[in-house]
Amino acid sequence: PAEEEKDDDYHSIIKDTERGKGPSDTHEFQAETRQLLDIVAKSLYSEKEVFIRELISNSSDALEKLRYFELTGAEISDKDVPLEIHIATNDDKKTFTIQDTGVGLTKEELLENLGVIAKSGSKAFIDQLASKSSNKGDVASTLIGQFGVGFYSTFMVGDKVDVFTKSYQPDSPAYKWSSDGTGKYEISEAEGVQRGTKIVVHLKGDAYSYAKEDVIREVVKKYSNFVGVPIFLNGKRA
Ligand code: ADP
Ligand code: MG
Repeated sequence: PAEEEKDDDYHSIIKDTERGKGPSDTHEFQAETRQLLDIVAKSLYSEKEVFIRELISNSSDALEKLRYFELTGAEISDKDVPLEIHIATNDDKKTFTIQDTGVGLTKEELLENLGVIAKSGSKAFIDQLASKSSNKGDVASTLIGQFGVGFYSTFMVGDKVDVFTKSYQPDSPAYKWSSDGTGKYEISEAEGVQRGTKIVVHLKGDAYSYAKEDVIREVVKKYSNFVGVPIFLNGKRA
């Protein structure tokens, strides 16, 4: 919202300071991940909003991990930053953004977790799909609902996804991960990144509604019940 609309309750950590810097290296998704992404991107699955549930749940996990590391006395960068999840919609840019102040990812963790199918559920998904010969589209929809496809569900609604992340480990560099969900993703170092992870989903034409605050508010209400940290939507408690 414009500056004059911001009332006393307004609180947001989402800024537009993150930029990739230096050279980026290109990586190929693992074959199974490629297969999964292809199915996800083309799916006619009607409940695409579940991508929001998946992203909130990942942020929530990342914040739980940070809390745990804190309790076990690990060294943590920006220790005083509160544990929160922030979501922002941008109707002009057609983006959906989620940012958390959790553990973040190192480069190794990015490669291990956002390039391969980390989840055993996704492997089962591919196997199930491979075992059905006809009507793959319908089967895919059922299976997406059944298994959930975690982070990769962002590619149901996005034709480009940017991840900015900085690990909680002191002096860890920040990174930008970016992909259009086809065969490859790119990683470069980044600047202007806070501890934790920010994910920007550039929405596809048929998913522009997820750039609307009113739509997102309703979806977040559904999925926020069991999240143990505050969630903010465009600077207001959701
Ligand atoms: P799952 O959550 O079941 O492991 P996902 O596909 O949702 O599967 O996420 C894959 C992995 O990516 C996570 O296990 C985690 O390591 C990493 N990840 C995803 N989102 C975040 C985040 N917001 N902060 C830190 N790590 C994340
Ligand atoms: Mg997950």
